[in-house]
Amino acid sequence: MARQEAIAASGYLPESGFDYTISPTASVWGENVFSFAEMAQRLPKAVFKTLKKTVEAGEPLDPIVADAVAEAMKTWAIDRGVTHYAHVFYPLTGLTAEKHDSFYDPDSNGGTIAQFEGKTLIQGEPDGSSFPNGGIRATFEARGYTIWDVTSPAYIMENPNGATLCIPTAFVSWTGEALDKKTPVLRSMQALNEQAQRVLKFFGTDGSFVSSTAGAEQEYFLIDKNLYFARQDLMSCGRTLFGAAPAKHQQFDDHYFGAIPERVLACMFEAEREMAKQGIPIKTRHNEVAPGQYEVAPVFEFGNVATDHQQLIMVTLKKVAEKYGLICLMHEKPFAGVNGSGKHLNFSLGSAKAGNMFDPGDTPQGNAQFLVVCSAMIKAVFKHSKLLRAVVASASNDHRLGANEAPPAILSIFLGTELNSIFEAIAGGKAIKTKKGVMHVGVDVLPPIPKHSGDRNRTSPFAFTGNRFEFRAVGSNQSIAGPLVALNTILAEQLDEAATILEKADTSTPKKLGAAVEKYVKGVWDECKAVIFNGDGYSDAWHKEAEKRGLPNLKTSADALPEIKSKEVAALFKKYKVLSKRELDSRYEVYAEQYVGAVIVEAKTCIEMARTQIFPAAVRYQTELAAALANLKAVGVEPDHNTLDIITELIAKLQDSVADLVGLLDSHGKSMEAECEHMRDAVLPKMLEIREAVDTLEGYVPTDIWPLPTYQDMLFIK
Ligand code: ADP
Ligand code: MG
Repeated sequence: MARQEAIAASGYLPESGFDYTISPTASVWGENVFSFAEMAQRLPKAVFKTLKKTVEAGEPLDPIVADAVAEAMKTWAIDRGVTHYAHVFYPLTGLTAEKHDSFYDPDSNGGTIAQFEGKTLIQGEPDGSSFPNGGIRATFEARGYTIWDVTSPAYIMENPNGATLCIPTAFVSWTGEALDKKTPVLRSMQALNEQAQRVLKFFGTDGSFVSSTAGAEQEYFLIDKNLYFARQDLMSCGRTLFGAAPAKHQQFDDHYFGAIPERVLACMFEAEREMAKQGIPIKTRHNEVAPGQYEVAPVFEFGNVATDHQQLIMVTLKKVAEKYGLICLMHEKPFAGVNGSGKHLNFSLGSAKAGNMFDPGDTPQGNAQFLVVCSAMIKAVFKHSKLLRAVVASASNDHRLGANEAPPAILSIFLGTELNSIFEAIAGGKAIKTKKGVMHVGVDVLPPIPKHSGDRNRTSPFAFTGNRFEFRAVGSNQSIAGPLVALNTILAEQLDEAATILEKADTSTPKKLGAAVEKYVKGVWDECKAVIFNGDGYSDAWHKEAEKRGLPNLKTSADALPEIKSKEVAALFKKYKVLSKRELDSRYEVYAEQYVGAVIVEAKTCIEMARTQIFPAAVRYQTELAAALANLKAVGVEPDHNTLDIITELIAKLQDSVADLVGLLDSHGKSMEAECEHMRDAVLPKMLEIREAVDTLEGYVPTDIWPLPTYQDMLFIK
């Protein structure tokens, strides 16, 4: 039996890894990155200066500089055994794509010569026809091109038998439209900077580039490779379509605090070492709530670099896991009834002069800057909560959001009691009590806002955690690009509004500025306080309360994705030059297609497994039982048909619902929206019906006949 063989083969631990005492991780830190330090050493001073300025100010690159950089990059890479270079780009699939070219060309003497010119570094031309573009570009005009993103460093990807120089790039069509996830990130970073400068001017902290910062905590499962390969559903859908809950799973909360299993820890050490070589600042690792579930988190970086690094984290975890006989599952809900995986996107913004703009200040002036930016964030989320739901929408994340272990699909903000009471006091012109006594609160006279204020409310999708906001609705499988683009842009819009208000007000003295800020903060609070919720986001009471407050609750991707095509969103992205209407429409098309495509693959897998694995197993048992009953009868014992009847009924149910599902796959919605709704309302519920029959059968069919590794096997064999 596949299951028994898989179990027998599981649990392997490689005999030896690298010797970490001879070469500790610190000694390999950043060794595969073409960093500033490396460039400073290898480039002529003037070239280096120009390049650095370009990166820091987000300015376009001088072509003369490119040749020098390319030459230095090539030498650096070839010294390290690299033979190929690749423009790495980030198509709308959410994956990382790369096309490799050799440095080497034949020369006229029958030999070979290594070449890499500036123009090759700056621009590449992959065949983009095989990437989804949502109608922007027909295949006959397949040419798109990749452009080097100078703000994200080039790096070497090591592989057995060779290494590749990877150049992070943006991917656009010949008409200049964004075909990827990086281009809008870069555009939104620009928009955010522009608007932030206008606000910072009032506090004398403008003048240095304001960038958003992002730190994404990545949750994932590790399961034994042999068990994975015995599950067709995991292989083709990333999640189990069947599987009864084991007697013991996470009810004792004993996994979170337990020691990390040896094989898993060995795998983490190596994965983190590989990431260290890429200069990814991995900081934290721990067990997660579910058995077999873990988390890894880097120290935050500039949004754009963090996004690229996040992609590398996912790639590296998956790659290294296989060396340890493990499979890394990034699906948001691989196992029903067990916690799913998310990606908490910690988000802030700041600059050399302004500091972290979500860090409450030590001075009244610093506090005022903080309050303006924080108010802008509150209004941004209030106004665009549907957009924030849409950018985390996917077939897989739908299983997680709102499942009582992940934030609900209702986008609310947690501020914590202290900060909340400060906003309330300002808005109400009230006096509040502090340690120093009673204060009449205004922006000039603010009680110190505690640095790490409030309880960490884990049930909120968007929580203030002391010096940043944590967007917890992002799925474990998703690129953080989409969420980051949304956050950058909606915040830019509100900073724009705040700046416009302040520009019109009399701010000629610090006192007058304080009064203007106070008025702005109060205005936002009065308008948007419905989005603030500091209680338990998992509770039914909140769902009712949120409805009363008129907060949207877009439960599924089918509900949320159309928001991408809404007028408000189009106007927002157009105004800040982040995405055109056509680019937005194309994104809707691609993401909706992905949603439908994912559900169809699941449904087909469900049908196939039900027919070729579950049904035969159940019938075998049915036959065995029937024969046993006949034998009993033959020797004069009156047999009990109870179990046989149950099995027979379940088999009939299974057959019927599979037949229904086949029928449902034959009918189609007239539009993309209707097609998504068909998946949501008909196909997915029918799959659940099949699952019910299968999972009940699992509780009856003998383990030596049951064809699939069980939840117990997958979650507990370490
Ligand atoms: P927790 O699990 O308690 O939320 P972690 O330490 O696992 O905390 O993760 C917190 C994440 O927030 C880290 O990636 C950290 O670098 C990031 N972070 C901290 N400050 C900022 C900031 N200013 N901007 C963006 N991310 C930040
Ligand atoms: Mg967190």
